[in-house]
Amino acid sequence: MKAMALSSLCNLNQENNPLNLTDLPEPIPDNNEILVRIATCGVCHTELDEIEGRAPPSFFPMVLGHQVVGKVEQLGPSANRFNIGDRVGIAWIYTSCGKCAFCLSGKENLCPDFKATGRDAHGGYAEFIKVSQDFAYKIPDNLSDVQTAPLLCAGAIGYRSLMLANPENGQALGLTGFGASAHIVLKLVKFRYPDTKVYVFARGMEERKFALELGADWAGGTEDDSPVKLDCIIDTTPAWLPVVKGLENLKAGGRLVINAIRKEGADKDHLMGLEYEKHLWMEKEIKSVANITRRDVTEFLQIASEITLVPEVQEFALADANYALMELKQRKIRGAKVLRIDD
Ligand SMILES: [Zn+2]
Ligand SMILES: [Zn+2]
Repeated sequence: MKAMALSSLCNLNQENNPLNLTDLPEPIPDNNEILVRIATCGVCHTELDEIEGRAPPSFFPMVLGHQVVGKVEQLGPSANRFNIGDRVGIAWIYTSCGKCAFCLSGKENLCPDFKATGRDAHGGYAEFIKVSQDFAYKIPDNLSDVQTAPLLCAGAIGYRSLMLANPENGQALGLTGFGASAHIVLKLVKFRYPDTKVYVFARGMEERKFALELGADWAGGTEDDSPVKLDCIIDTTPAWLPVVKGLENLKAGGRLVINAIRKEGADKDHLMGLEYEKHLWMEKEIKSVANITRRDVTEFLQIASEITLVPEVQEFALADANYALMELKQRKIRGAKVLRIDD
């Protein structure tokens, strides 16, 4: 099968073609696994963390990609949850142990044996993928292959972030960074919390303009003072300034939720500007978002189907995956990027 694979870590400031188009053996489903013929796969910022070594793959070559939509092509000997031809999605959670205290309490995202799609097992930048039937999701009929792909990470982890931020309708919410995830969160907030005002902080003018087009109440720079103090902020950036500035922009008792698998080091100096009284005192909270549970994905797909949540999507061919990744690296972002594989 055709796949775009990563054969070693690299620095994307020097190398623009990290993935190679390769021919890999088609996977064979064992036990309760299913083989899926991939239609689309979303491109996520986490792929940059994998390529550059901040969240390295567990083996090479690795097929990246964890927002996979396709049709069941073949069933393993004991697989019985899906039928051949069913449309399914696969998300960042590829498997977890199922036995530890985290797994048993619905916090499988924190399992020490958490395995990630496209990092610890081959992902969706390919024609086929295999996965346990317990870690695949039926896709609602009213969501298209292309629109569903970004819902599986950007959307579902955005949903988890929003649940952790836990705003009440009418409270002021900040989004710092405005990529694939934040733009879906904005659409979700407009539906779920109609009286909540959303304040978007983004580096680029294009991202700010895009946020206002999608209904944000205000858009400014990452370094700007918020026009009002905020009840909660979701940070989706790889940088540190948004953390420090976000804490400053919070109201007393406010909450900053960091939805990023890794932070980069370039602007870490900003942390030296952290002052207890200005940034942390008055019961301000910080919480990171780690991974995702099956429940997050299932609940979010259901909501997306009910409200017909349609993300803004740019499509790329599988062979153009490097191009999509470099655009993400250069922060040329307008909504979500998706590879179309079954053309
Ligand atoms: Zn992702
Ligand atoms: Zn576990």
